[in-house]
Amino acid sequence: MNAQYKLYFDKMKSFADLANAIGVLSWDSEVNLPQLSHHLRAQQIATLSGYLHKETTSPDFGKLLKSLTKLPLSHKHKRNVTLTLKEYDRDRKFKTDFVIAKSTLVSKAYHAWAMAKSKNDFSIFEKPLNDLLKISREEVEILGYSAHPYDALIDLYEPEMTVNKLDSIFAEVKAQMIPLIKQVKKNQTTNTAFLKLKYPKDDQWKAGIELLKSIGYDFNRGRQDISSHPFTISFGSDDVRLTTRIDEYDFSNMTWSCIHEGGHALYEQGLDPHEYGLPSGSATSLSIHESQSRLWENNMGRSKVFWKYQLPKLKKYFPQQLAGVTLAQFINGINVITPGKIRTEADELHYHLHVMIRYEIEKEIFQSKINAKDLKALWNEYYKKYIGVTIKNDREGILQDVHWAHGSFGYFPTYSLGSFYAAQFFAKAKEDITNLNEKIAIGDYTLLHQWLKTHIYKHGKTYNAEQLCKKATGSTLDFKFFMDYVTEKYKG
Ligand code: ZN
Repeated sequence: MNAQYKLYFDKMKSFADLANAIGVLSWDSEVNLPQLSHHLRAQQIATLSGYLHKETTSPDFGKLLKSLTKLPLSHKHKRNVTLTLKEYDRDRKFKTDFVIAKSTLVSKAYHAWAMAKSKNDFSIFEKPLNDLLKISREEVEILGYSAHPYDALIDLYEPEMTVNKLDSIFAEVKAQMIPLIKQVKKNQTTNTAFLKLKYPKDDQWKAGIELLKSIGYDFNRGRQDISSHPFTISFGSDDVRLTTRIDEYDFSNMTWSCIHEGGHALYEQGLDPHEYGLPSGSATSLSIHESQSRLWENNMGRSKVFWKYQLPKLKKYFPQQLAGVTLAQFINGINVITPGKIRTEADELHYHLHVMIRYEIEKEIFQSKINAKDLKALWNEYYKKYIGVTIKNDREGILQDVHWAHGSFGYFPTYSLGSFYAAQFFAKAKEDITNLNEKIAIGDYTLLHQWLKTHIYKHGKTYNAEQLCKKATGSTLDFKFFMDYVTEKYKG
């Protein structure tokens, strides 16, 4: 290894150590923190984050990165340096005053949003949201863009994705998903009553752990805890933790959140430990991360062949609740298509209309001077137009998601892209692995897991999402795979 590169690698490892120590504190805040300790913890995290920021943006580190760009390096090493330099340059564009101003606005907005949501009153959030729109527009100008202002923000979450590409993807969603939903709704007869029976907490917990083990999550390099919002967090591929939540009267909540987070966790546990701290040892992008959770949650976890093996196991924990529920009834029950107002509760088809609405609105924010008040009217109009529901209160409307209160614009599209990538990867895995369905039907997921390791996990950021997709499946992202998957599933 080149001596300069070794110096860079060592630096990156030490940055990752610090970042992961901050991660442990954040994890602990969500999982264990005593009620009155938040203030102290916020201070500790802010101090460490300050040190980390100072180190990663230091002129010396910048010099090292620039000198590396002049050396002949391998593709992987070159790519690591390029991505690190991109982040370095981006961080240095923002003056400390701007960073402080934004974080102050975000914390005000977050509190206002929480209050507005609990009082079901958007007007409480309106002014802080307007301030966030204003500073986010400034952020766009600082970041710079070539085609569309919103591109600058999308790139933060999904590098090299653009409005131009997303417009054509969501045009297909609109054109194909809405007619499919109409057709499926007409023909479905289902009973979901069994999902709303009482499923005791302890048994749900045990069933969740068993599911995680069966999909290949390694408890020797991770653990599961309870938190109010399920999440996965990694401190390096040998320590990847996840959380779940349990509602005794909504069994599906725990089950599919466990499988979803499990998919994220498999990805993190499967990243190359020798590349710790480097882009090549970190997840490709948010949409690729989401593709890994959705593949397990939906393509696998809502399929008949998966539950053929898993349902009898589940019945051991819940013999009464699931007595007499056949595999076909179970599958129909967990795949009901119904229009709703809440994104996180949406079925696999409506989900993407929810995301499309947020995408259209966010695009509008950055191409016009639209203010917070008009966003609410636009929100309600789009829900009526695309999903056919009337939003009667703010809590189930514009206040439902936390992203805007965090000052995050540009994040939502990654959710849909995740499902679309998942369908394409799964189709290719089925093509590559002989008799994959037979294997899944007997609870053997090792070959699928191996396929994901080889084609997705081990590359980290060595390729961008589009290149990775092309390498793994032979073509760049194509919405057709998702449509094929849902058409076969819901009409077949
Ligand atoms: Zn996720």
